[in-house]
Formats: sequence, structure tokens, C-alpha cells
Amino acid sequence: MNLIKLSNDLEYEYIIKPNTRAKKLILRVDLNGIIAITTPKKGYNNKKIESFIRDHETWIIEKFNNKIEKVIFKNQDTFTLFDEIYTIKHTNISRGLTKFDQETKILSINCKPEFLHRRVCKWIKTYILEYFSNQVSLYANQLQKTYTTVKVKNTKTRWGSCSSKGTISLCWLLAFAPKYVCDYVIAHECTHLQHLNHSPAFWHTLTHLFPQTAQAERWLKRHGKSLFAYY
Ligand SMILES: [Zn+2]
Repeated sequence: MNLIKLSNDLEYEYIIKPNTRAKKLILRVDLNGIIAITTPKKGYNNKKIESFIRDHETWIIEKFNNKIEKVIFKNQDTFTLFDEIYTIKHTNISRGLTKFDQETKILSINCKPEFLHRRVCKWIKTYILEYFSNQVSLYANQLQKTYTTVKVKNTKTRWGSCSSKGTISLCWLLAFAPKYVCDYVIAHECTHLQHLNHSPAFWHTLTHLFPQTAQAERWLKRHGKSLFAYY
């Protein structure tokens, strides 16, 4: 294993992959967070490789900062939903039981360790469905529109959708976003009950219903991807 310290004072691991077909040095940041350098077989010593890495360090550091570390919930882990901190208390008993204490915000789960992450996510999905339902009802009332159902979706491609039949689907990962961002997506989908498009009339209704629209859109563009850590 090779390590290199970059100007941000952090050490990075890199591996060298000789490839006779390579014409020059090629740098990649692998999915597992390792810098991979492909070299034409001969003529490259570690000193040359390290200076090549340093030449590209701005790009490398940025790449690492954007890398999403997947979160796997464990015993004693905490997570934040709308500014409230929840703590996981796991007991390794196969009899599956989930208990939540409103006062202490402790989520107690009995299950085999391999099921813990899934069980925590399942609890969050139930929690967020209740929130989604209340907010949809609120915004739909303000717009004087009716809807059919509210669904929690596990989707990576969109934060929400609204069908022509009035079904509103929302991504459960919004539970980890700031409350106003989550509310924005709900308001956005509710506005589709009135306009099934993104016409100027749609945006007019939406910004009237939800004045922080531009701010929330900016947050989603900038930080939305970070929510996939919980996926
Ligand atoms: Zn839309």
C-alpha cells in the first residue's frame, strides 16, 4: 500500500496498475476511495508518480469530498431528523420488536444485527409518511385541491412525483434534509395537483404557496446527493 500526503494534510492511499497498452499516466479515484494510477509498464518510479498525483491534487481532494460514505446504522448510532437527534438502541434478540420513546428519542430495536439497518430505515419511512401525509393535506387545503394517496418512495432519480390521478409520491430520504427542503418538495408536488407541468403559472403558484422555493432548490442542487448516504 502506498500513501501520499497532500496539501490538505491528509494521507491518501494509492495503487499502481501497470498496463502495457497505456500511453501515459492515468489517474482515477476508485469507488472504494483509493487513487488508482495506471502506468505504461516501464519508466515510472514512485517519485514520478507522486509528483503526478500532486499535479492533480485539487481534483483529487474535490473528488474525495464529493464521495458519499454510505451510512449503515449500528447500535448507539444517532441520526437527525428535522433538528431532533434520535439514538439507536440495538438488542441482539431475534424476536423483532421496535419501540420508540418520544421523550428520550431512543429507538429500541430487537433483531439480528444484519437486519438492524433495514429496521431503522423502515421505522424512519413510517415516521416520514406521517409527516408527508400531514403536510400534503395542509398544502392541498391551501390550494383547495384534492389528492388520492400519499406514498413513500425509495427512489434515487426524483424527490417526488404527482400523478394525474392525484397520487403524491415522496422520497423517504427527505427525512434527512432540512425541514424547509422537505416541505418545499411536498409543496412542489402539491402544486402539480393544480398544474401538471412546470409552466410559469406553476412556479407562480408554488412560490406563493412556498416562498423559500429558490433557497430549497439551491440546497437540493448543492447538497441533495448527500442524502443518498442513507439509501
Ligand atoms: Zn415538478
